[in-house]
Amino acid sequence: MTAATSLLNDLTDAPPAGVWSAPGRVNLIGEHTDYNDGFVLPFAIGQRTHAAVSTRRDGRVRVVSSFDPTPVEAALDELEDLFPARRDEVPEWARYPLGVAWALQRRATSTVSGVDIAIDSEVPVGAGLSSSAAIEGAVAVALDELWALGLTRRELAIAGRLAENEAVGAPTGIMDQTASLRGEADAAIFLDCRTLETEIVPLGFAEAGLEVLVVDTRVSHAHATGGYAERRAACELGARMMDVVALRDLSVLDLRRAAELMDDVTFRRVRHIVTENQRVLDTVRVLREQGPLAIGDLLLASHASMRDDFEISTPELDAAVQAAMTAGAIGARMTGGGFGGAAIALVPHALVPAASEAVRRAFAAAGFREPHLFTVAPSRGAGRD
Ligand code: ADP
Ligand code: MG
Repeated sequence: MTAATSLLNDLTDAPPAGVWSAPGRVNLIGEHTDYNDGFVLPFAIGQRTHAAVSTRRDGRVRVVSSFDPTPVEAALDELEDLFPARRDEVPEWARYPLGVAWALQRRATSTVSGVDIAIDSEVPVGAGLSSSAAIEGAVAVALDELWALGLTRRELAIAGRLAENEAVGAPTGIMDQTASLRGEADAAIFLDCRTLETEIVPLGFAEAGLEVLVVDTRVSHAHATGGYAERRAACELGARMMDVVALRDLSVLDLRRAAELMDDVTFRRVRHIVTENQRVLDTVRVLREQGPLAIGDLLLASHASMRDDFEISTPELDAAVQAAMTAGAIGARMTGGGFGGAAIALVPHALVPAASEAVRRAFAAAGFREPHLFTVAPSRGAGRD
């Protein structure tokens, strides 16, 4: 029996209708491009969140988690009052599953049944792997099936984002939900954040003998929120100065004019976004034409751009990238929003122990907090177990 099923059994005598699960994700390349209407290239990972669900006749929804086995419950017809206005009354973790129920209930054309939902997760929280999208994805595919909604993966991703933005109150984009819902084994998802169109891009890591080593620095800088808002504002200013809707509408050929118009800081923020969008497109092309062994320089260029132009790296992330490269990685970069968090390195299978050791030694020598090191593999997206 899975942990989610035994949690559900503790909650109710009703038999489980099923277990659904959804993975966390890692972004291979394309950072801070999402809110500039640009491109990202995430993949779903093997670590998943499981939701065991049974139905109820009384129109109520109850959720428990291995985090917190105390059930949180609400009537389905009360959710519209709770979210977003009274979300503070709901424990934070429970806003994710209840928020998804709220967002999906709106899509139903007839009355839906109550549910008991038990959640257990292998996705570490706050390691930059999007445990939040994993919960949203698992609950979304479960309710889509149990409530016979027949929604597309894109619609489920939008429901997950709505839950996260409105029910939780976190202003995030749609990359994480898309990766979790649409991932495929050994493939990445190319997402156009303007049109929400996606394309599956085979990675070929397994065949090339490559592993993705994650270095979670366990550092989260206090100014992350302010730094994020500042970067967004600089991007908006840059787009206005260039008279475009979003930086997505600029190409590297426009950078010369941008340099003439802008102060140095705004220009470098803009240059990161414009070149990063190009690097995502280049990575997709190189993967298709030459395979994964050829994308290392693009990953490194992405890291350098975030370090020097966008200025969101940290000494820990720079050290992780450098140590992994010295130990034989094909490429490496910080991943996620920056100011801490995690770096990834693309490492030949046989060199993973040496690369891990090199990172550990570099961190110890610099007096940094000991990092968490683990590998992730591009894996299938959400579905019924
Ligand atoms: P992440 O980068 O991991 O997505 P977030 O802050 O976006 O970090 O989401 C983490 C939050 O998601 C947790 O604080 C918790 O509220 C919720 N969460 C994640 N995993 C679980 C779980 N297994 N059970 C309950 N809540 C969870
Ligand atoms: Mg998250």
